[in-house]
Amino acid sequence: MSCSNCGKLAKSRCSGCVNAPEYQAGDAPTVAYCDPKCQRQHWPTHKTQCQILKKRLTLLRIATLLKTAFFSYREYVFDLPLAGVEHKEGVLHLHLNPKKIPFRPWYAPFQSNLIIIPEHKEAVLAVSQCTTAQCLLGPLARYLLEGLASMLKAVEVNIRPIVPWKIVWQCDSEEELPDISCATATHSILLVWLGSEGWVIDITGCQFGFRDVLVPLDSYFKKMVQSLVRGPCVYTEHETSDLDVFDNGLSLNDTDSKHLRAAHERTSRLHFAKIVQKFFDYYKSPCSPDKFLGGTTKEFQAKLALFESNLKVHMADLSDFAFEKE
Ligand SMILES: [Zn+2]
Ligand SMILES: [Zn+2]
Repeated sequence: MSCSNCGKLAKSRCSGCVNAPEYQAGDAPTVAYCDPKCQRQHWPTHKTQCQILKKRLTLLRIATLLKTAFFSYREYVFDLPLAGVEHKEGVLHLHLNPKKIPFRPWYAPFQSNLIIIPEHKEAVLAVSQCTTAQCLLGPLARYLLEGLASMLKAVEVNIRPIVPWKIVWQCDSEEELPDISCATATHSILLVWLGSEGWVIDITGCQFGFRDVLVPLDSYFKKMVQSLVRGPCVYTEHETSDLDVFDNGLSLNDTDSKHLRAAHERTSRLHFAKIVQKFFDYYKSPCSPDKFLGGTTKEFQAKLALFESNLKVHMADLSDFAFEKE
């Protein structure tokens, strides 16, 4: 690593932009200095680039925080009767046991006794959850992105999975439950602009083998997207938006279990909303979310880990007693 000012051996990287993601190949170079004097001398040259990179880094931290929030929620509000996961011929097979379909409560914590690698677990938790994630994270996403993003939109696309998933029911011959696969899936994502740079935040793309939560818009659309289904739309969803629409569609003739299941999901979402509100209260101005999103990589990771464990404790609380009261 050489000093960006004098070329001698550098001791430390510019703390403003270290670990910022690339938008185009090579546009997030390592900037490092041998001493503070060189850093000061180089600042007029580096300033504009550093500010752009810092914004990208903040965006990446926001996307990571949103993803952490969603998965911490989903781990405690899970509804698939999962018996096992198998990666076979490029497809992730989810084996479901119809005898274990959750029933009152319909949602339970992810079975901790299942042996499953973290990457597959993440995919399983994300299956068919893009709408839930989009709604659940609405208020938090808008709060965090305000002041950073020059534009924020929601969009629905048909995607090309890298690793498709397939649901396989472990049936005793006569039972008929359809296998479902995601060969052509409609998927909801967020589009965020930092000035002229367009980015995609994809919280649940890991169900299709998309590893990155934040991807430059052009490369996402080139590699992952088959066609545009809807949007770009104004992103107005909140924790229960989709349930509100669903509830309005329910009629008196629908079974009690349908109504109760919807009520359980609503309880879970509103429980999540409570901790988001606490987060807002804690970071409200003059602190602003910068206090959470700033700091070194290590400091941010520590704050994120604390946020995650608090959220999980809060969600575990729900699984323990909230459903039983009904
Ligand atoms: Zn130097
Ligand atoms: Zn910098």
